[in-house]
Amino acid sequence: MNDPRPDDDRAPLPPGVYLVATPIGNLEDVSSRQARVLRGCDVVACEDTRHTGLLLSRLGIKRPLVSYHEHNEAARAEELARRAAGGERVAVVTDAGTPGVSDPAYRVVRAAIGRGVAVVPVPGPSAAVAALSASGLPTDRFAFEGFLPPKGEKRRRRLEALLGEERTVVLYESPHRAARLAGEVAALARELTKLHEEFLRGTAAELAERLKGKAVRGECVFLIGPKRMEGTAGA
Ligand code: SAM
Repeated sequence: MNDPRPDDDRAPLPPGVYLVATPIGNLEDVSSRQARVLRGCDVVACEDTRHTGLLLSRLGIKRPLVSYHEHNEAARAEELARRAAGGERVAVVTDAGTPGVSDPAYRVVRAAIGRGVAVVPVPGPSAAVAALSASGLPTDRFAFEGFLPPKGEKRRRRLEALLGEERTVVLYESPHRAARLAGEVAALARELTKLHEEFLRGTAAELAERLKGKAVRGECVFLIGPKRMEGTAGA
């Protein structure tokens, strides 16, 4: 194993912005480093103070929380970067997974870099990588597309382009739109790390058939196999 970062000891954390990944369902996915950084920071910026407050209390951690979400991102990013530049340790978390991956955090990262503040990733779960790793689709090259446009021509055109991709495509989708996407994908990962975790794998047509008339419940990652896979949409 390589040497740990200098923050990986019992000394106080150096000032900076710490992007701390949090579980996507299973609380056992909190690493000891994530817990230590959360315990050692001056403030935790989070999307939802109730949600993160619950996580921290389950970990036995009590730190001040400030909300940081898509509606106050611009102002909050500057404020958080300024605090870190002034010597504070600012942890940034989101409701689930890795900050910045289809979640707020990009602006605070940019603001911190702009002020010469250290930006430290504290990695952990991300639904995209978890789904990809167990999908059975090629992992050597993949494209993360996040959320598709919600509807209309933009959505149709984006999907059409993705069906010609040479790489495996990983998509997020909100549960209420998930069923509509099912006919286009080759794997679906549902409720990752949770009680009802499920993978559906097959051709797009097979998946569509299996899901016909059924509601897709819970959180989902969709994957489209690369065009280079013979014969099917990828599986
Ligand atoms: N930052 C997060 C990450 O690193 O995965 C993603 C946040 S994004 C706002 C939320 C989307 O991630 C959901 O709509 C769903 O597509 C996916 N997601 C999050 N948790 C999941 C889970 N446990 N199982 C399947 N998909 C999940």
